[in-house]
Amino acid sequence: MTDFTYAMDADGVVTLTWDVASKSMNVMSTAAFQQLSDMVDRALADPAAKGIILTSGKKDFAGGMDLNVIAKMREDGGAAGIFNGVMGMHAVMRKIERAGMDPKTLKGGKPIVAALPGTALGIGLELPLCCHRIIAADNPKAKIGLPEIMVGIFPGAGGTTRLVRKLGAMMAAPFLLEGKLSDPKSAKAAGLIDEVVAPQDLLTRAKEWVLSAKDADLVKPWDAKGYKMPGGTPYHPAGFMTFVGASAMVHGKTMGVYPAAKALLSAVYEGALVPFDTALKIEARNFTSVLMNPSSSAMIRSLFINKEALEKGANRPEAPDQTVKKLGIIGAGMMGAGIAYVSANAGIEVVLIDAAQEAADRGRAYSESILDKGIQRRKVTPEKKAEVLARITATTDYAALAGCDLIVEAVFEDMKIKADVTARVEAAVGPECIFATNTSTLPISDLAKASGRPEQFIGIHFFSPVDKMMLVEIIRGKQTGDRAVAKALDFVRQIRKTPIVVNDARFFYANRCIIPYINEGIRMVAEGVEPALIENAAKLVGMPLGPLQLVDETSIDLGVKIAKATKAAMCDAYPDGAVDDVLFWMADQGRMGKKANAGFYAYDAAGKRDGLWEGLAGQYPVKDTQPDLTEVQHRLLMAQVLEAVRALEDGVLTDIREGDVGAILGWGFAPWSGGPFSWLDIIGAPRAVEICEGLTATHGPRFETPALLREMAAKAQTFYGAVATKAA
Ligand code: NAD
Repeated sequence: MTDFTYAMDADGVVTLTWDVASKSMNVMSTAAFQQLSDMVDRALADPAAKGIILTSGKKDFAGGMDLNVIAKMREDGGAAGIFNGVMGMHAVMRKIERAGMDPKTLKGGKPIVAALPGTALGIGLELPLCCHRIIAADNPKAKIGLPEIMVGIFPGAGGTTRLVRKLGAMMAAPFLLEGKLSDPKSAKAAGLIDEVVAPQDLLTRAKEWVLSAKDADLVKPWDAKGYKMPGGTPYHPAGFMTFVGASAMVHGKTMGVYPAAKALLSAVYEGALVPFDTALKIEARNFTSVLMNPSSSAMIRSLFINKEALEKGANRPEAPDQTVKKLGIIGAGMMGAGIAYVSANAGIEVVLIDAAQEAADRGRAYSESILDKGIQRRKVTPEKKAEVLARITATTDYAALAGCDLIVEAVFEDMKIKADVTARVEAAVGPECIFATNTSTLPISDLAKASGRPEQFIGIHFFSPVDKMMLVEIIRGKQTGDRAVAKALDFVRQIRKTPIVVNDARFFYANRCIIPYINEGIRMVAEGVEPALIENAAKLVGMPLGPLQLVDETSIDLGVKIAKATKAAMCDAYPDGAVDDVLFWMADQGRMGKKANAGFYAYDAAGKRDGLWEGLAGQYPVKDTQPDLTEVQHRLLMAQVLEAVRALEDGVLTDIREGDVGAILGWGFAPWSGGPFSWLDIIGAPRAVEICEGLTATHGPRFETPALLREMAAKAQTFYGAVATKAA
């Protein structure tokens, strides 16, 4: 394995070039780290070597640690294995930092500079942070930062300790706690890196620095005499404010459910009180505790390993490449306009059709407004805007669809209108074209009846707003063929979103689970549960929005519409009468939600939420005795989780990885848990059965234990252990 290569030039400058052969982006493995360590030893030991440039052979420096390695470390070695492994990494990085200098005089070390051509994330920044200087190429596309917190861990290879000592706790907070990423110029302004140079000058400048560096240039502030942490330690008055503030802020944002955020704060706080090398040990101890926490392993599994596997086509049927070249979109409303933007932005030619030219133009103008915002934020150039807009043709003329290989229909949610559109489209496109509908409620197999080619008919369900929401649900109708599925998956890959593939059933997967969550919240209002308790219980268990806020955001009238349609379809089996009482009453009061500036919440004139609406208590008085927090949380979680399990039992979901990834990306299901199936694994099937039985006894059959869960409890199985990734 040669992830790093070693080359010394005539002036004695050693260049260590990182270039992982099998990957487009460098990621660090255990073996590569050892190789780097050996090469640093070699350069430090060679009297002819004057210093080291650490750089990359690719356009970027590194994407981070290979998280599969971290997952494996935990499986193989347990806590001791992780702790010792991390301490071993610290030793190597400390060796780079000290670079052979005399420990007493701090003289005689060899200069080591990190030269970053592009993106440097995670260990890709932690490693530069232990070099003596960081120089980056002026590459506005590059992202520099420590995003570990996003997948449930924190920078554990010295990044936390070094950044806090470099910037101070307050200034380091957004990079550590929020995983904030910066382009090179902003990274320089924030003090993350030292220098930004023109890309062609990167290595020349790095060499120049190595050859001119003095002893004092190699000493890190924290190794120098009299070092004081910027902004003060926790016992300094300014530091006290920072630490208390950070702790409150983190708790406010995470509600205490993310072990990584808590452990990070401990590493920062405790680390600030002790010498540097002890702080590294504290960091390692906290990092180990996070890696051993089931929440972090579930988050890594869902948000990194499985998300990536799905994006790479884990469930793609065998079919030749189906890359979309020309896309037709029918209906230029909210969804159609969003789909047009993400597609044109990904380089796909788009024909955007609506019934009237003004409507089609409005749809195209939506892309223009997003691109203009991008220009304001310096993320988009005027040339890029022109390119993207040039790819979108807004028209009413179906003849423009000639040559399209995929159609996405996003007209009104009406069977008849959709059927007419399907027939008109099929008359205008070639025989190979795949037709996708973006319906959110109508069965794909029923809509496919309007098609002369049902095997080429599929559901591609986007979430709103399309440019922000990362999940796309692909729905196989009864007759949908493999090529249509492959087409949908290749399209989703092109627009860089995450797909799940599900079978056709009422509300598919995401809406099927989210509706019972909303309904459970509304049902509690009818029962006299304090609305603030409902909302806070949801947030304290890690849901981004309480059920009442969520229905306000999606609108009460949509809720009423869905309730009426569901009731009509289910007749006597319809279980949600108690919910409808509240929902219909709210609609009668004209409280349609956020868009009407009135819903379960009150809103100020600017449309900002202004507390829960007090008028609700007039109609649904709050009971004197309130349920305890855990019971409310169990109701809200189980309403979603049991629906996910039923979707698996019914064969709507065929892969629990999709169930977990889809839940987090689709509706924000408590990300700390790794998703509904991961959550069930964390609490264990026997405990889940116990909760279901308790809830069924008090609240009725909607909480009845699904047979699959009961069977797993009896056999002491877990989803990821026994069902493996692919359901039977
Ligand atoms: P919308 O009302 O904003 O847009 C629908 C557009 O279709 C309008 O511009 C309308 O003029 C156009 N249209 C209607 N009949 C037409 C016809 N015969 N030919 C051409 N154009 C026609 O609706 P939307 O929110 O964008 O929803 C569109 C579809 O996406 C619906 O099926 C909806 O269920 C689904 N969907 C919506 C959401 C959401 O959050 N809004 C999410 C997922 C899926």
